Amino acid sequence: MPSRKFADGEVVRGRWPGSSLYYEVEILSHDSKSQLYTVKYKDGTELELKESDIKPLTSFKQRKSGSTSSSPSRRRGSKGSRGSRSRSRSRSPGRPPRSSRRSASASHQPDIQETRREILEVKLTPLVLKPFGNSISRYNGEAEHVERNTERNELPQKNTQEKFHLPQESSYVSTQYSLRPRREEIKLKETDFNEEKLVTKRPALLRTYEVSTTQTEDLEFGGVPGVLLLMIGLPVFLFLLLLMCKQDEPSLLNFPPPLPAWGDLWETRVFGVYLLWFFVQALFYLLPIGKVVEGMPLINGRRLKYRLNGFYAFLLTSAAVGASLCWGLELHSMYRHFLQFALAATVFSALLSVYLYARSLRAPREELSPASSGNAVYDFFIGRELNPRIGTFDLKYFCELRPGLIGWVLINLVLLLTEMKLNNRAAPSLAMILVNSFQLLYVVDALWNEEAVLTTMDILRDGFGFMLAFGDLVWVPFIYSFQAFYLVHHPNEVSWPVASLIIVLKLSGYVIFRCANSQKNAFRKNPADPKLAHLKTIHTSTGKSLLVSGWWGFVRHPNYLGDLLMALAWSLPCGFSHALPYFYVVYFTALLVHREARDERCCRSKYGLAWEKYCQRVPYRLVPYLY
Ligand code: NDP
Repeated sequence: MPSRKFADGEVVRGRWPGSSLYYEVEILSHDSKSQLYTVKYKDGTELELKESDIKPLTSFKQRKSGSTSSSPSRRRGSKGSRGSRSRSRSRSPGRPPRSSRRSASASHQPDIQETRREILEVKLTPLVLKPFGNSISRYNGEAEHVERNTERNELPQKNTQEKFHLPQESSYVSTQYSLRPRREEIKLKETDFNEEKLVTKRPALLRTYEVSTTQTEDLEFGGVPGVLLLMIGLPVFLFLLLLMCKQDEPSLLNFPPPLPAWGDLWETRVFGVYLLWFFVQALFYLLPIGKVVEGMPLINGRRLKYRLNGFYAFLLTSAAVGASLCWGLELHSMYRHFLQFALAATVFSALLSVYLYARSLRAPREELSPASSGNAVYDFFIGRELNPRIGTFDLKYFCELRPGLIGWVLINLVLLLTEMKLNNRAAPSLAMILVNSFQLLYVVDALWNEEAVLTTMDILRDGFGFMLAFGDLVWVPFIYSFQAFYLVHHPNEVSWPVASLIIVLKLSGYVIFRCANSQKNAFRKNPADPKLAHLKTIHTSTGKSLLVSGWWGFVRHPNYLGDLLMALAWSLPCGFSHALPYFYVVYFTALLVHREARDERCCRSKYGLAWEKYCQRVPYRLVPYLY
């Protein structure tokens, strides 16, 4: 059994993450697996620290007479050699301005005195004041921290020799701190770019506390009963919808549609073809072509590398499919196996989810998704591990855009060919061409802008579990192609004037969607981008800023609005003789309204008052003057 150096209840000094400052803490517990100590700061903040970040009180006192060169802040201070602003920004948050350091060394104060001086210069900002179980969330309002700073500044000085007096609360209050030297605080609003550097310099400090597991009573999707219902209901619903659509006169009066025989639903050969598809896409993903980029910083400060070759995978797939057609492959025959392919994909996504959950049990805590809860059923659905990888193969990133999205285009093509075959047409209908080309544009756009997926909720927040596995591999290809599926059985003639209006709607939606997403991605990548200099922003105390003009000043989720307009344009070519093709618009509206609420909740806890300010400046969420 590995030994531990500190006992429960012992009062020691713990290093504040990302800084060189040590505060008095009480050891609460020790996890022998992770070798981490749970410690409690005097103000109630609980953190997990490594043994190397903990020092006995006595050893700290010894350093009074110790060599000054051993001071962590000194060692770090010797590194900076860039321009004056970035140099001052990149220093340790606990490091004093140069002038105070000079005076300290000039008067030959002992190290402990210098440390105390550093502490005096540090601004401690309370960020979260929210009850929680094992979760810590961030309330990061600017106005609040100004008020509370004076009290917090006292804390490190008083606790030098004091005994702890810890609040005895069952559900305690968590407080986070933004550690910044006072003088730097004044400069914070000057540029956002340097703030971004600050964020990447100490991501662990800023993100560790965002990424902690969710409290059971805060669970999304209706908690455990809700996700159970979704896991059973969604596959059943998918098959009922497809079966209904195959009816000549789909109607609730004809519900439920006749159920197919087992043989019409399952064919092992089809499952094999599905596996072949999946692994060929995986092979394309592994090809050493395309740029390699870094994702957003993880809680441990690491940035994962991702290869951007989705567009090349699409081109290779298109070439392979084109060649197969030239060699006489009857692609439309896949249509006969449509339900079998849907079931094969469903079975595969379920097996993948089981594998993902099983491997997540061995994942270290810092690699778990902030959305996971500790409840097995819920975590199976939402995904427990944030970025499951086999070597460099990132399973979530791969599934997000490749097999399902490219599969959706292939299914649309199969449906187009089937429409021609079944209706003896020499060319596809205008409605089918519109649906196919609109959705092709959507997929090509996503693959062309593949890097943008790295800043989405799916990659940053949700783990990889049933929700994304089923969503990416089954729901997207088999439900998003629903308009084309509908047109095979219910042809609709669209006149050119109507088609022109639909095209205008589609392009308007696309422009809003693309410009909004590109604007935000460019801003997040480089807030000092001269092309964005005209945009107004609100500073937040996480270091990031929020856009409040341009597309993001129009509504709070302009990209969702554009997406919804496009969804409507995909359904309109199916005409108005039935509500079924509009199912996608209704579902997608519900999805984005719910997603917007999830994101809003996250942003409110991340940005606090700054987010409130943004909501006041931009009052509408999706549609101006409506919602
Ligand atoms: P977004 O791309 O909208 O990202 C939301 C994040 O953007 C927030 O968490 C926040 O993160 C940042 N943000 C919010 N407001 C601002 C602002 N004013 N200024 C700067 N940054 C801001 O969310 P999604 O990941 O949900 O969507 C990505 C795209 O995918 C969208 O276009 C959406 O329509 C599409 N989508 C499509 C689906 C489909 O099935 N077809 C399903 C889901 C999404 P931070 O501040 O941390 O950077």
